[in-house]
Amino acid sequence: MEELLSHRLAKKICIFIDLCFLIIHVGMLILFSLFHVTPLIYFNIFSIFFYSVLPVIVIKDKLRFFVLFVYIEVLIHMTFASLLTGWECGYSVTLIGMNVLVFFAEYFGRSIKGNYVKALPLSILSTCVYTATYFFDKKNGAYYELPDQVVYRMQIMWGIVVFVITIFILQLFTLLSFQSEQLLSEEATKDKLTGLPNRHYLSKYEKERMKEGGWIAMVDIDDFKKINDTYGHLFGDYILQELAKIMERSLDDTLVCRWGGEEFLLIGKNTDIFMVRQKLEELRRKIEEYYFQNDGLSTKLTVTVGFTFYEPGANMNEMIKIADKKLYVGKYGGKNRVIA
Ligand code: GH3
Ligand code: MG
Ligand code: MG
Repeated sequence: MEELLSHRLAKKICIFIDLCFLIIHVGMLILFSLFHVTPLIYFNIFSIFFYSVLPVIVIKDKLRFFVLFVYIEVLIHMTFASLLTGWECGYSVTLIGMNVLVFFAEYFGRSIKGNYVKALPLSILSTCVYTATYFFDKKNGAYYELPDQVVYRMQIMWGIVVFVITIFILQLFTLLSFQSEQLLSEEATKDKLTGLPNRHYLSKYEKERMKEGGWIAMVDIDDFKKINDTYGHLFGDYILQELAKIMERSLDDTLVCRWGGEEFLLIGKNTDIFMVRQKLEELRRKIEEYYFQNDGLSTKLTVTVGFTFYEPGANMNEMIKIADKKLYVGKYGGKNRVIA
């Protein structure tokens, strides 16, 4: 997730929102000046000043306060505007858009492991204020009368503002959750040390892989425990990484997986026993001759390979068991060999 959502992106979004709100308040100032709604003229002058200095908070990384201040400003401003010029003007619906925004801010804050504002209490508060404003307006009426034309245009304008905010945020949510799901799924099916596909990958794509016939081989490093004990675990890790590269380079059209520990699973499509055996023998020899060198340490090693062929639609686990048995035949037979 950190790749998708970052602190820098959060700051950019805050500045963008600040600018949008600044423009909206300039528009409101012009409108209320035209109709001489004095309290709202002053309120908008204050808000324009407020949104002009708010980017300082963003620059100082206080994004949580930015969200909180903007939310409260909108809540008070829109409620005040509704009470003065009437519920019908539609200011209060902007609180619905603000709730969508504040939930997104919480999600974003949690994702980048930063401080965040809890959206639920704020949204409950604004729901109460929204309802109370409606009843207050119905009981007492508006203090200022705006022409009907202006009222209706404002209604549709605030409605559109809310639509734009909700559509934008919900679309963003949809894309982000889909992408993060994909990222998680990729991470879960990849071995962290070698970057090879792992066991989870195999179980996920088993049916697809086993549709056609082919071969399965289990490769196990000989006496790896001794190598670890002699040269240390880090050097052991380097060997596993290097071995993964050697196998991927040497075997084209073959799926190379880290089965676990120092065991690798290979799945290929060829069904010619002579060619497969030759391919695996070549790999075994290449590894036997390879000089593993890292951080002033160096060693040579060998692997034992057990392999079997399978028919289309065969059960992967059953085939792995057979390859595993062959591998143990190779181990008991003296290691460093390929057994079919
Ligand atoms: P054999 O020839 O019979 O296969 O002997 P072996 O020593 O290779 O096999 P054993 O099962 O006794 O030991 C496997 C070793 O592999 C033990 C464990 O520490 C090591 N190992 C497993 N995973 C890792 C890893 O991720 N990194 C490192 N460095 N070592 C690992
Ligand atoms: Mg083993
Ligand atoms: Mg081993």
